[in-house]
Formats: sequence, structure tokens, C-alpha cells
Amino acid sequence: MNVLIVYAHPEPQSLNGALKDFAVQRLQAAGHQVQVSDLYAMQWKAPLDARDTLDPQPPARFNASCASRHALEHGLQTPDIVAEQDKLRWADALLLQFPLWWFSMPAILKGWVERVYAYGFAYGVGEHSDRHWGDRYGEGMMAGKRAMLVVTTGGWEPHYSARGINGPINDLLFPIQHGVLHYPGFDVLPPYVAYRTDRADEARFVQIRDALGQRLDALFTTPPIAFRKQNGGDYVIPALTLHDGIAPGQTGFAAHVSTAATD
Ligand code: FAD
Repeated sequence: MNVLIVYAHPEPQSLNGALKDFAVQRLQAAGHQVQVSDLYAMQWKAPLDARDTLDPQPPARFNASCASRHALEHGLQTPDIVAEQDKLRWADALLLQFPLWWFSMPAILKGWVERVYAYGFAYGVGEHSDRHWGDRYGEGMMAGKRAMLVVTTGGWEPHYSARGINGPINDLLFPIQHGVLHYPGFDVLPPYVAYRTDRADEARFVQIRDALGQRLDALFTTPPIAFRKQNGGDYVIPALTLHDGIAPGQTGFAAHVSTAATD
């Protein structure tokens, strides 16, 4: 299978760097093809702006969505964006690997999402009407592909537990797992999170590395998070709220995950 790792850490000798190198070896040893987008090494341009469209006559007022759609439709995207989109088309699985920075992904990775996820590629796909609000949340260009986050944190695991001060890790990662990954159609696996990494010694590194190895070995067999599909019957269209009979009384992120208890 083909695996794309989009990796965001500025230091090759970091813990993340070591885990990324390990992941490549482990996946290749299992017979997978691996490509890595090492965003800092590539000097990835993070800001989405008018320079992302190779248009000889750009409109006077830049509109990010319109410019993105126009560039995709007319072959006017910059080569760096096209190359990443080709990697995504090639991939059967996507890993986004990063240290948790300010409770989210580093800015350079957010910039990869903003620029590579073009209008007509990752959003604005499918019929948009009062009957069908696009192919998204479980449908779209990435349908049939898997995705998983590989994240390191400074904070301890209990800090990210159900009543932990940082908020539950699944809530913090919801915008990435549900918004960035499920939205264009990926099946999203439970994240691999290594907690309390800042003072990791060699023994802890081996622990973290081996646990990651097990997750990589199961990359194509682990059941995905049961995010509800937008067009699967659970939502009122076009309001896009859950039907009254689905997860009754439940609100917040967890309501968008199907469980035997809520359906
Ligand atoms: P490194 O600093 O490279 O390494 C961590 C430890 O692993 C070091 O002690 C290193 O010696 C050791 N190590 C052991 N074996 C190896 C090996 N083989 N190779 C390399 N190193 C090894 N944390 C949170 O929990 N929440 C936040 O919101 C948050 N925000 C942050 C924002 C910023 C801007 C920054 C800089 C940090 C933030 N942190 C946060 C902490 C951050 O998540 C951790 O510092 C990070 O995850 C650690 O990963 P690293 O790859 O940078 O580790």
C-alpha cells in the first residue's frame, strides 16, 4: 500500500524526527511504499495568498476560495500544491505527524492543509443543493483512504483525560480529525498520541517507538473512528443538525461519533 507521511518538525534530530525515520523504516519493512513531505525541510510556504494562483491576470480583489477553484480548474496552481495533491491521490493512507503546539498542529502544517486542500479538490466537491450539501464528511476525494494523526505532547496523559485541564484529547483533535480528515472523506483511525515527551529518556523512547510500531502494523486493519456520514441519514439536510432520534440529548463533538448506545 502507499503511505504518505506529512511531517512537521523543524529539527531532524528531534524526537519527532526519530519517530518519523522509524515510521518510514517500519512501513517499508512491511512492504509499503512511503513518501514523506517534510514540511520544514521543503521550506513549505505556509500562508495561503494570491501567489498560489499562477494567473496572468488575477482579479483586483483576492478571494481565497474563488482563486483556488479557478486555479484548480485552469491548471494554474503552483507546482508545490500540485505535487502534494498528487501525493494525496497516490496515497492509500495519510499520516499527519507533529508535536502538539498550542493545542493544535504547527502553523506550517495548517498552511499545508489550507493550500493543498483546494476548492474542488478537498471542498466544494459534489452536488450542492438543499437536498445534498456536497460530498463531504465521509464522502469526497479522499473516500476509501485512511488517515491517522501521530502526535507528541509535553502534557501528561491525565491532563488530556475526560476531566483533565487541557480538555479531552479527542475534543482537541476533533477539528483536525473530523474537520480536516473526515470532511474530504478519509476514514480516520484513532490517533497515536505520545504524552509527556519533553524529558523522554532512552527507555521511554523505546516505549513510544514500539507503541507507534504496533499502530503502524495495524494501519490497514484498525477500525476507524465511527464519525457519522453527512449523507448517511443521521443529519437533517440542509440544516445539517442531527435528527432528533439520533444521540438524543447529546451535544458537542461526541454526538458526531456513532456508538451502539446513541443510535
Ligand atoms: P524533543 O524536544 O526533540 O525531544 C523530547 C525528549 O525526547 C528529549 O528529552 C530528547 O532527548 C528525548 N529523546 C529520547 N530519545 C530520543 C531520540 N531517539 N531522538 C530524539 N530525542 C529523543 N505541549 C502540550 O502538551 N500542549 C501544548 O499545547 C503545547 N504547546 C507547545 C507550543 C510550542 C510552541 C512548543 C515549542 C511546545 C509545546 N508543547 C505543548 C510541548 C511539545 O508538544 C513537546 O515539546 C513536543 O511534543 C516534544 O516533541 P519533540 O519532537 O519536539 O521532542
